[in-house]
Order: sequence, then structure tokens, then C-alpha cells
Amino acid sequence: MDSQHLNAPTSHLETLAVHAGRDRPGPWGSVAPGLFPSSTFERDRDGHLPGGHIYSRTSNPTRQALEEVLAQIEGGVCAAAFASGSAATHAVFQALAPGAQVLAPDDLYHGTKTQLRELFAPWGLGSRFIDMGSLETVAQAITPATRLLWLETPSNPLLKVCDIEAIAALAKRAGALCVVDSTFATPVLQRPLALGADLVVHSTTKYLGGHSDLLGGAVIAAQPSEFFQRVVNVQQAAGAVPSAFDAWLLLRSIATLPLRVRAQVASAQILAEALAAHPRVHTVHYPGLPSHPGYAVARRQMLQPGGMMSIQVRGGRAAAHAVAAAVQLWTRATSLGGVESLIEHRAAVEGPHSTTPDDLLRLSVGLEHPDDLLADLRQALAQL
Ligand SMILES: *Cc1c(COP(=O)(O)O)cnc(C)c1O
Repeated sequence: MDSQHLNAPTSHLETLAVHAGRDRPGPWGSVAPGLFPSSTFERDRDGHLPGGHIYSRTSNPTRQALEEVLAQIEGGVCAAAFASGSAATHAVFQALAPGAQVLAPDDLYHGTKTQLRELFAPWGLGSRFIDMGSLETVAQAITPATRLLWLETPSNPLLKVCDIEAIAALAKRAGALCVVDSTFATPVLQRPLALGADLVVHSTTKYLGGHSDLLGGAVIAAQPSEFFQRVVNVQQAAGAVPSAFDAWLLLRSIATLPLRVRAQVASAQILAEALAAHPRVHTVHYPGLPSHPGYAVARRQMLQPGGMMSIQVRGGRAAAHAVAAAVQLWTRATSLGGVESLIEHRAAVEGPHSTTPDDLLRLSVGLEHPDDLLADLRQALAQL
């Protein structure tokens, strides 16, 4: 990776988040990174492109700075930034050939499942959804047609955890790629590439953006490969790229990612423990609780268990809706990873094919004081 912009090379995430990808000094000595919305770039009289950029669908200086930061904070060597997490996911699947087979977890972001079922199945890409918490199940599901194992850990919305290192090894033995959607964990808490994954995917709309004010996605590679080049080709040829402004906002946000995530995890742990003891909550899905089936693997492969959890309340769907309706501080909205805490009845959002329990509420813990967040949930649960 190109770390020429760092005066002192480092692998510390906090330093990379602030300095990687930043030209120093910037134009006019600017300290904040430049924002270049220009769609096109002028040639010299001899036809050369002095800045190396020709047209912003192919490359743009602000997006290039973002891609450098993304690669470095994830411990990869190259990255491609996309218009959304879904566009990043789509580019990975589209880089496969029709006839290939994808293995994916049974609990995962519903949009990824929808892509595989509705967009890629008619195109000839096969997919199977399995319990990736069991290595035996994964090993048995791999066939000669299996080209890619898609992992999402912790998963959305049940916070299921799978063993990245062990599954990456199974994939390698089968000659298949291992790709991890690490959106819930962020590079602060989990480094799939160091555990053997080939690619990491993020919805940067979530924690990396962190302020609920942009859409974005990323694919980051452990090494430059023919497959990653195909992903980049989809990005550039199909044009699923972020605007310069969204890329710039994301650069700004990444600087505070390590601090935000640590604060969110600290509050999430407090809430998870309190809610697990609450009489009106029958299950808390949070990998930081010893009762969680993925607790041991999460402890091994994550620095901390994350800022996301789901709770199941007593009284079924109606009770879950009543709790969501009664909160005053939590915001009733989809998405996650922002500074404001969000609560969502997930089955309603996922639609009629959802397998999510209908008494489940997904919680994205923000940066408010944990006492205030807990007090609000307690008063909402007390109304049941
Ligand atoms: C939100 C999300 C996505 C999709 O990202 P968008 O930016 O909404 O397109 C993919 N994976 C996970 C785990 C997500 O939470």
C-alpha cells in the first residue's frame, strides 16, 4: 500500500484514520483533505493527464484518497469505494462467472439475500444459505462449483458469529474465495484479511460514515488479484461510484471511527447486560454476553463485541411494536452505526419472506449517555 503521505509509517489504526490518504501539504497548504467534484480533467497540449485522472467515474482525487484510507485501516493493499454497501456487494457477485455457486450464511443482511435470489439467480449464479456457525455444515456444503464463501459476522440481525480463520482455510482448500461483510464489526474490532479472508466488504453508510448523512460501500483486498481487478472493472465500467462529496464526508468521518466505536461498544455492553436481566426481555443477542453461542469465537477474532444487538421481548409482535412506539430518546429508524441510537422492528422492514422473529427489536447503540439510553428502554418496557 502507498503510505507515502504518512511522515512516520505506522500500523496504529488511530493514526492511519487521521493521516492515511491525506496529501501533506494539501493544495494551498490546506489541512483538511481537498474536495474535487470535477467530473473531468484537462489534458496537456501533448495529451498527457498531469494529475493522472481522466474522468471521475474511472478515478477521482477525493475518491482515491478515500480508497487509500480504506485499504490502510483494514490492513489491505487496495480498495474500491462504491456508491453504497449494496453496490459493493453487487460488484463482488458480478465479478463471478455465471454457473458459479455462492455459499452464504442463513442470517445475513436481507438486501444481500435479495440480490442473490432476485438479481443473480436468474443470471445463473447459484446460492445456498447455511448455518456458518457450524464448520461441519460449511465443509459439507462446499461442492466443486463453489467459488465464493460469503461471510457476515456478526450477522444482521441475529448477531450470529462465524469463525473467519477456519472458514477461510476451508475456502482456500476448495479453491474458493472467502469474502467477509464486516460492516457490524468495523476495522476497529475485526480484521478479516489478517485471518485469511481474500476480500472485506463494508457498508460505509454505517459505522465508517457514522453520522447518518451519507451512503457508501467498500471492497478491500488482501492483495492485488485478477478477481479484485474484475471488481474494480465493475466499479468503473458500471459506474457504481460515490460522489466526491460523499467520499469527502466519509474521509472526514473515518478520522473519528476508532473513538466512536469504542464508546458505542462500552455502552452496548452495559445495555446488553442490563437488558438480559430485564423480566420483559426473554433473549438478548449480543456477542459480548457469555450466553451468546458465538461468544468464544467472538472473543478470539474480535477485539470487542460491537455496538449492535437485538432483543426479543415478551408478548410477541405487538409488544415489540409497543416498545418501539414508547421510546422517547431512541430514534425509530432503519440503518445503524450513527451517533444517534436507533431502534427497529426488523421483521417489518425485511418483509413477508423474513425469517427474523417478530418479537425482535434491533438496537444500534449511539453516542448518547448509556444511563439515558437504558432509562428510556426501561420506561418503554414498563409500559407493556
Ligand atoms: C446496510 C448493510 C448493507 C448494505 O449497505 P447499503 O449501504 O445500505 O447499501 C450490507 N451489509 C450489511 C451488514 C449492512 O448492515
